[in-house]
Amino acid sequence: MKLESFWQVTAPVFTGASQGELPATADVVVIGGGFTGISAALSLARSGLKVVVLEAGAVMSQASSRNGGHCNTGVSQNFASLVASRGVEQASRYYRAFASAVDYVQSLVEEEQIDCDFLRCGKIKLASKPAHFSGLKATYKALKSIVDPEVELLGADEVRREVNSAAFHGGLIQRRGGQMHMGKFGVGLAQAAVSSGAEIFEHTPVNQLTRLQGYRHRVGTPRGEILADKVLMATGCSNVGPFAWFQRRIVPVGSFIVVTEPLPPEQLHALMPANRTCVTSLNIGNYFRTTADRRLVFGGRARFAISNPTSDARSGRVLQAGLSKIFPALASAKIDYCWGGLVDMTADRLPHAGEQEGVFYSLGYSGHGTQMSVWMGRVMADIIAEKASANPWQRDSWPAVPGYFGKPWFLPVAGLYYKARDLIS
Ligand SMILES: Cc1cc2nc3c(=O)[nH]c(=O)nc-3n(C[C@H](O)[C@H](O)[C@H](O)COP(=O)(O)OP(=O)(O)OC[C@H]3O[C@@H](n4cnc5c(N)ncnc54)[C@H](O)[C@@H]3O)c2cc1C
Repeated sequence: MKLESFWQVTAPVFTGASQGELPATADVVVIGGGFTGISAALSLARSGLKVVVLEAGAVMSQASSRNGGHCNTGVSQNFASLVASRGVEQASRYYRAFASAVDYVQSLVEEEQIDCDFLRCGKIKLASKPAHFSGLKATYKALKSIVDPEVELLGADEVRREVNSAAFHGGLIQRRGGQMHMGKFGVGLAQAAVSSGAEIFEHTPVNQLTRLQGYRHRVGTPRGEILADKVLMATGCSNVGPFAWFQRRIVPVGSFIVVTEPLPPEQLHALMPANRTCVTSLNIGNYFRTTADRRLVFGGRARFAISNPTSDARSGRVLQAGLSKIFPALASAKIDYCWGGLVDMTADRLPHAGEQEGVFYSLGYSGHGTQMSVWMGRVMADIIAEKASANPWQRDSWPAVPGYFGKPWFLPVAGLYYKARDLIS
């Protein structure tokens, strides 16, 4: 078993990184070379701006190539609760933003001819307990009547035509979601940004940021500094760099993934006949999908722990047990890959994007970011280039997480709380 991301190991190598000296000036410096930063760089370069991406490690080495591979419509929160807390108009705007984000990913794949197994397969949310079905029903009703007439609700008997497991008591299908090979997409996006004129410097962490006037900043790195007219923070849940204000608002939460060996086609088809992306309804639940080479990618929170090789291997064993529970036929399937990553969680589990003290940012996708980060890269690029663009995640304020200064000491307590809720639900 390789303790590495399947998406990274099986993607082409990115060959477009700039070598040598940093330029002295740039119209825009983008901090972070994941989906947000590289998508923004592509749009900014297409607008004719001089854009420089500074990436602490390798391009697409963090969440953007360590995720579950789902590219779904729909907010991370239950839509019916979102309507209750935010009102119909705002909840619908958020939902539609995710649909636009998936459409945008598809349009980039087509325009840039990125070979990344993009598939508009739809998503199914699976009720792990009989009581969870009533929650799905409420979500179904709200979605169908307000924002997504194509949704479908399946009872316990019907759900097995989608996912052939005795573990589920119903399901909710959202048809517009998709999936893709995240490593191939990420490298394709980065090559496209370079072809459009963006410069990308890897292994160049930003360690100083000094505001000069308005949006202008001096951006410091161990390799030298750049005078930037504008700066975009696209750093995910990083704790690298002088970004305490953002770090107090984003909690890094570990999530883990295993990938099986390639399975016989008839076995995989029998288990996942509809071949959608799947998410279970538990708080500490699972997400899974197939790959073009017939593997099953199976992820989940597994443990409330931070990702490192020892922790990933432990989480991998928990996930393997979870996989066998859902699909007993896979109990002896070989696990070829196992890894973990950090999800950039916000207190309201929704992204935040805007401007803070002259710095633009788009962060905090809370585990639903493979589509939204790519779309928000484009939205923030338009805002920076002073083109009209509606930012769905602009808010009046973004309060810090109370009692949080960079070490998520409360995660084990939160883990116990959510486990208990799953047990009694
Ligand atoms: C395990 C896991 C599973 C997930 N599954 C899904 C899924 O199935 N579907 C979904 O929609 N979303 C999923 N997500 C979330 C999704 O992957 C992210 O929301 C998205 O990739 C965020 O992209 P990003 O560019 O904002 O951040 P990242 O990809 O994390 O990129 C940020 C980059 O900034 C760099 N950086 C940080 N600090 C500095 C600095 N000081 N100087 C220079 N560079 C810096 C980092 O090195 C990093 O490369 C998952 C996330 C994880 C971790």
